[in-house]
Amino acid sequence: MTDIRVEHDRIGLAQWRQNTTGTLGLVMTMGALHEGHLDLVREARAHCDNVLVTVFVNPLQFGEDEDLDRYPRDLTGDIKKLDAVHADVVFAPSVDVMYPQGKPMVTFNLGAVAADFEGKIRPDHFAGVAEIVTKMFNITRPDVAYFGQKDAQQLAVIRQVVRDLDMPLQISAVPIRRDVDGLALSSRNTYLTEEERASALAMPAALRLGVQEAATSGSAKQVLKVTKDALRAAEGIKIDYIDLVDPMTFQHISEVDGILTGCLIAAIRVGDTRLIDNQLVVLNRN
Ligand code: AMP
Repeated sequence: MTDIRVEHDRIGLAQWRQNTTGTLGLVMTMGALHEGHLDLVREARAHCDNVLVTVFVNPLQFGEDEDLDRYPRDLTGDIKKLDAVHADVVFAPSVDVMYPQGKPMVTFNLGAVAADFEGKIRPDHFAGVAEIVTKMFNITRPDVAYFGQKDAQQLAVIRQVVRDLDMPLQISAVPIRRDVDGLALSSRNTYLTEEERASALAMPAALRLGVQEAATSGSAKQVLKVTKDALRAAEGIKIDYIDLVDPMTFQHISEVDGILTGCLIAAIRVGDTRLIDNQLVVLNRN
């Protein structure tokens, strides 16, 4: 027996929203849910009276040569998982419901936070993310929206949009959920062969070395060097980028004066699959 309410159009969702009292926590996903997504729902459930999860593969955030068509989809399975963690409502609209007039005219120019790394490799990606996030915020009017630390630059971009546009909600970050072997959970992990997965483990392993280096030397330069050396020595992967940045601005950190939290970020390609990962590190030059 399922308790969860599933809505596919705006009218049904609006009716539900109008009748909700208390606080609303929003979790936005592209489906093919795993324990990382469910952690966001659990966090929302722990802190909000109502929990709404969106499942929408947003075409605007995919580049032309990206995996929009083969992106894993399993709404029936997702609904079961969301019911088990006691989400109240799933909003799973079609592309036409979200973009009834086609591609929106009003677009985002996000500036420095989105300029490098994912923003450079996937030029329209963050504008597409900002678009769908803004629309979902306006449609659902949450008190708190939960995002994974896994997509660290996305989190920084969304925080910037919310700050710059005075959006009346709180953004809450949820730690990265990893598999037992250390690989960050991702819907895209299903693309990996066993061999590719073994190669991909070099990324979390290198990031862990960076975390250890931060704990011993606290030096930004050393942390980045140790991580780079480890990842560059790995076989079977191509490195898109690896850097140490401020988690709020996504600008490179060269050295610190005092104590600062940095975000050690990496992106790799294994076969046809792109994977990203990161670790927060405490840099201390006292
Ligand atoms: P996606 O469906 O990949 O767009 O992800 C939806 C949300 O889940 C985003 O806020 C992601 O950052 C978050 N998320 C994805 N993977 C993980 C993970 N392994 N741990 C924590 N959060 C995650």
